[in-house]
Amino acid sequence: MTTTREIQPWRQLAGIVQALVIIGLPFIRTGGESLLRFDVPTLQFHFFGLSLWMDEFFIVLIALIFVAFLILFITLVLGRVWCGWVCPQTVIADFTSFVEKVKNREFYHKLIACSATFMISLVVAANLIWYFVSPYEFIPRLIEGSLGKVVWSFWGIMTGILFLNFILLRQKFCATVCPYARLQSTLFDDRTLTVAFDPRRKDECIDCMACVKTCPVGIDIRDGMNGACIHCAQCVDKCAKVMEGRERKSLVGYFFGLPGQGGRLVRQNAVLLGSVTAAFLVFFMYLLITRPPVEIMVFSDYREIPRLNAKGELSNSFVLTVKNRGREDMDFVVKAGGENMTAEIIQDKILHIKAGEMKRYPVSIKIRGLDRGQPGHEIMITVEPLRGGGGMLTEKAYLIVPEDS
Ligand code: SF4
Ligand code: SF4
Repeated sequence: MTTTREIQPWRQLAGIVQALVIIGLPFIRTGGESLLRFDVPTLQFHFFGLSLWMDEFFIVLIALIFVAFLILFITLVLGRVWCGWVCPQTVIADFTSFVEKVKNREFYHKLIACSATFMISLVVAANLIWYFVSPYEFIPRLIEGSLGKVVWSFWGIMTGILFLNFILLRQKFCATVCPYARLQSTLFDDRTLTVAFDPRRKDECIDCMACVKTCPVGIDIRDGMNGACIHCAQCVDKCAKVMEGRERKSLVGYFFGLPGQGGRLVRQNAVLLGSVTAAFLVFFMYLLITRPPVEIMVFSDYREIPRLNAKGELSNSFVLTVKNRGREDMDFVVKAGGENMTAEIIQDKILHIKAGEMKRYPVSIKIRGLDRGQPGHEIMITVEPLRGGGGMLTEKAYLIVPEDS
């Protein structure tokens, strides 16, 4: 497949959308929290309207495994599309391309370019922090001058690293530092999407070097696949322009596999990897959808002796544990009941539990009308939210019936 349609405007659009999404996510709030943020003080992970607590991090782990498989799958099918189109390193390197342009110009041009890059690094480093400290907290604290040593230090160090990266390394980062770049070539097969020079048309090349001069990593695509190539397709557009005058298509283009050598697009490894990726996505969605906003557990309280009085009324004690996984404080009413018996909770029946809090609550229950002739008596303890989301939760507990005294 060869294309001569201009690719760079689409790449720039993808870069702008990516930048808006990455900068905007911590600012967009739902239920009072950022769409995506890990809150360090509470160890809560805010994820598109949900707040996951530390003990639910297996859900985050499943999400990370899904993302890892997704990256492997995308790399196998679409090659370095991430690197060339939406990786923040590539996008910011493109936004700061003025650094390259001032290399041979006067000092004050370089100074302006360096200052602009520094400001961009400062914002990018702050944006990174906003995924941990809400921008709605960060910005007022910055204005008040109360950001704190840890945040200031992290911001300063990150700004310095990013600044040096975008001034000195730029696209060389991909070939020298990025571990994903090194992993990619091992994931390619004979149908992976690549940017390649079509060797079948090598006689049409006029050796104008336009594709080489534009390459941000300084390689010659005509020499074949190169691990440093980030698939930015700048060479495709340049060659397309050169070939336009000759009414021919670009000699460089996107190809599934090497030009003229590819196998089947739908192949076993892609189907397998795609299926595993989809399975992890389904599992992750299932965990999110079925995640209970409130969890309860009931245990017998062995510190309290079960009693049976002369009227046949049984007293049993339990420990009720309630975890509020929601973002808001909740009030609950506790009820008890069982088959062929009446059950009355002796102490306060209303529970107030703060967001994210887990409370242990002693529950003493008086039971009347129990048929002691039957073995294995069960009682149902119900926790019902008075306000806030979620339905009733019921847990079974076993009664201990002492011998007649
Ligand atoms: S060879 Fe082409 S696609 Fe690869 S990095 Fe250079 S310009 Fe981009
Ligand atoms: S831009 Fe096209 S014609 Fe010019 S050297 Fe590169 S491949 Fe050849």
